[in-house]
Order: sequence, then C-alpha cells, then structure tokens
Amino acid sequence: MHYTEIMVRYGELSTKGKNRKDFIRQLGRNVRAVLHRFPRVEVKAQRDRLHVALNGEDDQKVISILQGVFGIETLYPSIRVEKDMAVVKQTALQMAKEQYHTGETFKINTRRQDKHFEYHTNQINNILGDYVLENIDGISVDVKHPDIAIRVEVRMNGVFLSSETIHGAGGLPVGTGGRATMMLSGGIDSPVATYLAMKRGVKIDMIHFYSPPYTSEQALNKAKQLTSVLAKYSGNIQFIQVPFTEIQETIKEKVPEGYLMTIQRRMMLRIAAEITKNRHCTGVFTGEALGQVASQTLESMLAINDVTNMPVLRPLVSMDKTEIIKISKQIGTYDLSIMPFEDCCTIFTPPAPKTKPNLQRSREFENYIDVADLMKKAIEHIQITDIKPGEEFMNQDADVFAELL
Ligand code: ATP
Ligand code: MG
Repeated sequence: MHYTEIMVRYGELSTKGKNRKDFIRQLGRNVRAVLHRFPRVEVKAQRDRLHVALNGEDDQKVISILQGVFGIETLYPSIRVEKDMAVVKQTALQMAKEQYHTGETFKINTRRQDKHFEYHTNQINNILGDYVLENIDGISVDVKHPDIAIRVEVRMNGVFLSSETIHGAGGLPVGTGGRATMMLSGGIDSPVATYLAMKRGVKIDMIHFYSPPYTSEQALNKAKQLTSVLAKYSGNIQFIQVPFTEIQETIKEKVPEGYLMTIQRRMMLRIAAEITKNRHCTGVFTGEALGQVASQTLESMLAINDVTNMPVLRPLVSMDKTEIIKISKQIGTYDLSIMPFEDCCTIFTPPAPKTKPNLQRSREFENYIDVADLMKKAIEHIQITDIKPGEEFMNQDADVFAELL
C-alpha cells in the first residue's frame, strides 16, 4: 500500500483547556522540526488529530521518524481517495485483502465529518462491509473483536482509509514540560535518564564535566555523540561542557581519601545547579539509581544533595541495571555508552569510597578547598555547543573506534 497521509492520535490528552492547546501546538512544531528534510510534507495539528500529508514523500521513512516523537499515541497510515463510493469500495477491499490470509474477521468503522456526504455512517459501513464480504472468500464480520479493522473517515477534502495501527512513543511533547538540565556522563545510565525526562515533555540542556588531560578528546566527543542521538527525540540540544580538572586536582590534594568522591559530587552538583539557575531551567536530572555504586546510596544522596535546593530528579532511581540496558538498546545509545573511555569521575575514584558518608563531615572537609573560587572559574570557562539530531562527532576518530568495536 502506498500511503498518502499519516494520521496521528494524540497521547495523554487528559488535560483540558490551555494545556491541551499547548500540547497540540508544541507537537505540531516538534513534528515539523523532525520532518524538515521532507519539504513536501504538510503538517496540520487539529483539535482531535494531527495530519501529516505526505505529498509523495516516502511513507516508511516518515513513519519511522514519527515513532520517535513524544506525545504520539498511535499512527494510522492512511490513503486519501476522492469522495466517490466506487473508489472507496475498491480501496477498502484492497486493504482487507492485504491483511487477509484465511478465516479472519473484519469490521468497517466509519466517521463522518462532512455531514453533506451522500451516505450516512451506517450506510457506508454496510455498503463497504457487503462489498468486502462478497469479494473475499471465507471472511466474516466481527464488530467486537475484529482481526482486521478498516477505518474510514469522510472529511471535507476526501475520504481517508486506514487499517494499520502503529504504536507511537507515548509521553508528552518535548517543550510542554518546562526546561531542565541533565548531568550527562558517557555511561549507560544518564542517556536513558535523559530519554525518560524528555518523554515527560521536558526540554533538556546537557551538562558534561570533563578533565583534560586525564580525560581524552574522544571521551568528550562520545558525550557529544550521545547527545546527538538523544536530540533525535527532542530536536537540537545545547551541550555545556564544564572543565573539572582543577577542582579534581585540588580535592585530591586537600580532602581525605574516603571523602574524595562525595566532595567531587558535591562540587559537580553545585556547579550544575548554578548553571541550571543561570539558564532559567528549573531542575537537574541525573542518571543515578539506588544502590548501583558508592555514590548512589541514600546516605550519599543526602550528603551530595545538601548543596542545593534545586529539584534533583532521578528517573532511574528504582530501576534494575538490566531494565536500563534494555531501554538504552532501544533508544540507540547502548553501543556508544559501552565504548571504553575514561570518565572524569572514575579516574579520581579512591579504591574504597565511603558508601555512607557523614553529612557533617562532608561539609567540614569541603572547607579545606575554596569552593566559591573554584566554582567561579569553572563556570567562566564553560563551552556551549548546539547539537543537531544525528550530527557526527566521532568520525575524526574513526580509526580509533574501528579498533575498539
Ligand atoms: P552513568 O552510566 O550515567 O555514567 P553510573 O552508573 O556510571 O552512571 P556514576 O558514574 O556514579 O554512575 O554517575 C552518576 C550520575 O552522575 C550520572 O548518571 C550522571 O548523571 C552524573 N555524572 C557522572 N559523571 C558525570 C560527568 N562527567 N558529567 C556530568 N554528569 C556526570
Ligand atoms: Mg558513569
């Protein structure tokens, strides 16, 4: 079947009034943005449905892109025909034939927007139903649980038929849930947490700490590459890289070994919260999950979270590693995440970090360093890159990666 239009059913539209309008408008914008490479496509975001007219563009490519867009519950690839019953009958029959093997049941489900069309809804159901019954041996009608459901919509500009139902990504359109930052490492977890934050409509700015020369250019590019994969789900992402070398060296020199990790994390979060505030974002997301490593116990979270009253959001908090890995494979970040580059956190990790750091001690040990000055310098030297969906950051290292893979 060669589809002419994709009809989109909205996701969680339980919210009414202004929220509903924002949802629809934002989804329209997001869909137009992800389809910008298909100039003939026309997107109409209406009250009950969003319509993507293909005007000859490749239906399968458009469908696969739309499947990644949050706020879409289902996609119905449709065919538009003239308001001529003979043509409608032929098309309905062809659709039924394509899905029919042996003994299946079917149903015709008509909606009529054009109240002046010469047939009523029930008449159309009957005419088309009879035609299909007459022309396919062995097929029968089941209006409750049909194997094949053929939807017919009589609109002002034609009759639209569809029978395939494709699941969308669900969630809320990115941009309807406000703006927050994400602390992105190069690991498996934080990209998955980013995806889940976006799924609830949040527009994300990435914050990545790096420590040259202890961490390489490739490690930085890997974080950017992960961002470009995630941008496919949200549109362009601002990537903020924060130099962390001086802070780590100072902490290493001044702070007792058992608290290196805790103090580093406190500094990271403090800087992230400051950047978040400066950019008028209203929360910091992380990829932490309870119990994964020393810094991810409740006691550690208490000692680290102490530095800010900005909401710190942890979408993965109760997920198992296997569940997280499954999502990372689905969203296309896993293969990048497992590339073995040094992370700024691991290089200065002591052999035995405290799993239950004491809050009071953490505060005391932090007095051994000049927090305000270190923070100021790091923030003065941030660099920001606007990253596009699918943009390439690792080709210059192609040889290195070829060896690793
Ligand atoms: P991930 O797989 O996301 O790296 P992890 O299980 O390796 O997580 P940690 O290394 O302890 O756990 O990091 C916990 C969280 O701290 C990360 O999910 C991320 O949100 C943040 N984080 C760690 N390293 C960095 C970094 N270099 N830049 C920004 N945020 C970081
Ligand atoms: Mg990590």
